[in-house]
Amino acid sequence: MSALPVVVIGAGPVGLAAAAQLVERGLEPLVLERESAAGAAVAQWNHVRLFSRWPELVDPAADRLLAATGWQRPSSGYPTGQEWVSEYLRPLAAALGERVRFGAEVVGVARRGRDRVVDAGRDTEPLTVHVRCQDGSEELISANGLIDASGTWGNPGPLGGDGLPALGEAAAADRIGYRVPNLGDDGERARYAGRHVVVAGSGHSALTALVALAALADDAPETRISWVLRRGAVGNAFGGGKADQLPARGALGLKAQEAVRSGRITVVPGFRTEIVERDHDGTLTLVSGEGNRIRQVDEVVVLAGFRPDLSLLSELRLELDSTLQAPVALAPLIDPNVHSCGTVYPHGVTELSHPEPGVFLAGMKSYGRAPTFLAMTGYEQVRSIAAALAGDRESAERVELTLPETGVCGGAGLFDEAEPESAGGCCAPAPAAAVAVAREPELVSLQAPSSASR
Ligand SMILES: Cc1cc2nc3c(=O)[nH]c(=O)nc-3n(C[C@H](O)[C@H](O)[C@H](O)COP(=O)(O)OP(=O)(O)OC[C@H]3O[C@@H](n4cnc5c(N)ncnc54)[C@H](O)[C@@H]3O)c2cc1C
Repeated sequence: MSALPVVVIGAGPVGLAAAAQLVERGLEPLVLERESAAGAAVAQWNHVRLFSRWPELVDPAADRLLAATGWQRPSSGYPTGQEWVSEYLRPLAAALGERVRFGAEVVGVARRGRDRVVDAGRDTEPLTVHVRCQDGSEELISANGLIDASGTWGNPGPLGGDGLPALGEAAAADRIGYRVPNLGDDGERARYAGRHVVVAGSGHSALTALVALAALADDAPETRISWVLRRGAVGNAFGGGKADQLPARGALGLKAQEAVRSGRITVVPGFRTEIVERDHDGTLTLVSGEGNRIRQVDEVVVLAGFRPDLSLLSELRLELDSTLQAPVALAPLIDPNVHSCGTVYPHGVTELSHPEPGVFLAGMKSYGRAPTFLAMTGYEQVRSIAAALAGDRESAERVELTLPETGVCGGAGLFDEAEPESAGGCCAPAPAAAVAVAREPELVSLQAPSSASR
C-alpha cells in the first residue's frame, strides 16, 4: 500500500471522525483545516444548544481514541455548540496531533498530472491537493484518497426567493444576517431588541431564531417578528413534535408553534423576496415577486439553508444530483421534494462513491442542499468510507446505524399550496397543525412596487 496519506478536508465533527476511523484502520490521515482551531464552523454557533444528546455527537472511533488519553465522554445532556467544541472536538484534534494541520486551506484537488478530461491513470496516479497556507505560501500534497468534509457553513442561501440574492440584498448587508442571532450577547441583543425583525427560512435554524426572538419580545415588547416563508403554508415546518424521535428537536418545533399561536410572531407565507429597498429612514422594505411588501424592517435574519462549494473539486469526476448537488445515489434518500418521511436511511460508501476513485464527500457537504443532516449520519458515512479504503468491503457495506425519525410526513408539495395536502403517511402524522396565517395589513400590502424600484 502507498505510504501517502488520505487527505481529509476540514477539522469539523465529521472530518475529525474520519481521521479517527482511518487511524483505527491503520491508514494515515492528514486533516487540512483552513482555520486556526478545530470545530471552527461549530464555534460560529457556539450559543446554540444542540437537539442531539452527547452520545449521538461523539463518533465511536473518536471515543476509543480519546478514551486512551483518559478523556471521559460526557454521558448525558444536550451541549451547546461551544461545549461540543471545547469538550470534544478540540481534545480530539489534540489526540490526533500532527495528523491535523491548521491554517491550511484546500483550494483545489486534481489527479496528478492530468485534468478532468484525461482518462489514463485515474486509478493508479495519486491525487494532488493544492493548499494555501496562512502565511500566504502554497503547497502541493500527494494523497492516496480524499474525504471532503469541509461542510457548507461558508455558503448560506440568500434572501432572494429564486435562490439568487435579491436586488438590493448586498447593498443592505448592514441589516441582514445569515446566522442564528446570539441574543445572550449584549451587543446582538441591542441590535434586535425593540426592532422589527424578519426571519426568512423554515428549517431548524429558523425555528431556533424564532424561539429566541420571541423570548426577547417578552423582555422588550416593542420587538416585532415577521416570519417569511417561501412556501405557501406553514405546513410541516414545525416538525414532528412529540412524534420526533429526537425529543429536543420535536420540542423546538412545538415552542416555535406556541410562539406563533401566542401572537408574538406574524407569519407571512408564500412571500418570495425579489427586491430589498432601503427607505429614507434607513429601514428596509422587502418586495415579493407578486408585489407584496413588508415595510419598516429593521433587521433581516436569513436562514435559508446552505450550499456546497464545489469549486475546489472542479478537476475531479464527481457524479452529483442536478437538484441537490449531493452524490447521485444519496440524493433520492434525502430529497425533500420526494422523500416523505424527512427521515434519512443510513448509508455509506456505496452511495457516496464517484467515478473518481478514492474521492468522497462526507458530512454536511455530502447532503448538498438537502436539510436535516445529523452528525451521527456523518460518523456512519466515514466509518464505511474508512472500511472501504482499508479494503474491508464487507464492513463498508454493513449499515451500523439506526437514525431517529423526524415524525414528519408528506414530503414537500406545499410550495405553491395555500394549505398543505393531506400527508401521505410513512411515519406518524405530524401533530403540529398548520397555524392560521396572520397578515398584518400594514406589513403586507398588495401594492405593486414602484417602477423606480424595479
Ligand atoms: C445551528 C446548527 C445546529 C445544529 N444542530 C445539530 C444537532 O443538534 N445535532 C446534529 O446531529 N447536527 C446538528 N447540526 C448539523 C451538523 O451536525 C453540524 O453542522 C456539523 O457541524 C457538520 O459537521 P461537518 O464536519 O460536516 O462540517 P463543519 O462543522 O461545517 O466543518 C467543516 C470544517 O471544514 C473547514 N473548511 C471548510 N472549507 C475548507 C477548505 N477549503 N480547506 C480546509 N478546511 C476547510 C471549516 O473551517 C470547518 O472547520 C447543526 C447545524 C447547525 C448549523
